[in-house]
Amino acid sequence: MTKDWQAGRLNSDLDDAGFDTLAVRAGQHRSFEAEHGEAIFTTSSYVFRSAADAAATFAGDRDGNVYSRYTNPTVRTFEERLAALEGAEKCVATASGMSAILATVMSLCVMGDQVLVSRSIFGASVSLFDKYCARFGIQITYVPIDDLDAWQTACTEKTKLLFVESPSNPLAELADIRALSTIAHAANALLVVDNCFCTPVLQKPLALGADIVIHSATKYIDGQGRCLGGAVLGRAELMQEVVGFLRTAGPTMSPFNAWVFLKGLETLRLRMNAHCQSAQRLAEWLEQQAKVSRVYYSGLTSHPQHELAKQQQSGFGAVLSFEVEGGKDAAWRFIDATQMISITANLGDTKTTITHPGTTTHGRLPAAEREQAGIHDGLIRIAVGLEDFADIQADVQRGLNVL
Ligand SMILES: *Cc1c(COP(=O)(O)O)cnc(C)c1O
Repeated sequence: MTKDWQAGRLNSDLDDAGFDTLAVRAGQHRSFEAEHGEAIFTTSSYVFRSAADAAATFAGDRDGNVYSRYTNPTVRTFEERLAALEGAEKCVATASGMSAILATVMSLCVMGDQVLVSRSIFGASVSLFDKYCARFGIQITYVPIDDLDAWQTACTEKTKLLFVESPSNPLAELADIRALSTIAHAANALLVVDNCFCTPVLQKPLALGADIVIHSATKYIDGQGRCLGGAVLGRAELMQEVVGFLRTAGPTMSPFNAWVFLKGLETLRLRMNAHCQSAQRLAEWLEQQAKVSRVYYSGLTSHPQHELAKQQQSGFGAVLSFEVEGGKDAAWRFIDATQMISITANLGDTKTTITHPGTTTHGRLPAAEREQAGIHDGLIRIAVGLEDFADIQADVQRGLNVL
């Protein structure tokens, strides 16, 4: 192993390293300045030693940066580090989670292709598929997340992508990633998993057979509510297409945001474990409360897919939902009675957040569709943060007290 800045420390030095070491070290290529931490390259373009050097770099005959819409050293460090954690050949960073999804569809689909999408995905993802992708002749078909026969039946020769979010929001339903990858591959299609709720700490979709992983880095990867960003990960040959779209269309990650996310990755496992521990305790406690009729959390043995969650995840995440009697009025009273917890639809923050899905994240759905999707009026979602558990619990108790 060399510590020479000229040779740099290559990723191969870290081949046998554990998750935490990769989270702190992977992707760091030391520059001539021999900096200890990650530098932020806030530069839009790069200079060349000579005209010939510029020509060779533009032609791709020589490695080097040309323009930050194409590559940036800080963004590359983030990409290499997240790729190491997900076990992906390549990672492509994007300006947001939504642009990660957009780049995936735009680069891998053509007019006439079909995309199968699990129901109950992130609201903006539904709009992206229905309002924009559909406008360009991509057929969008929604399938219940846990009905494998329905996925199988929905596949046609036009099917290009199967797109799932697991666990789902807000009801924590799971997609059987291994089974869906088999169905996708039999149909010559690719399985795409939005791994935002689990992060590679809790779930590695590629190892389970998925072809592409999507992230909104805005959530747990930052973990502190500061920046927007996203990522697409998978085989180099697929990611080359995604890179092609991004460098042309432009929704790339800013170097400053990449630096924030790098720092986020360094503490990701510690944070996720703490999030999960408090969420598990809160879910178990809520399940015992008389005023709570049902709790949705895959860490509970009462969850219908608890066994699947144990197989494909190493933890159950920090987003849980529960129902209170009395519909919307009761749910709103509950939410308004909390004092510490932030009332916001955001999640993946150090701060615990609470929302009423029926009138926020799922407010645009017609009432009948919402009911059918299981988003009842008495449903409340909590994304458990990193405050002391006793304080989170006491605040939730304030909500229960007014029912
Ligand atoms: C937030 C979120 C997105 C979108 O990410 P942005 O960074 O807000 O664009 C996509 N998928 C899931 C599951 C999310 O929670």
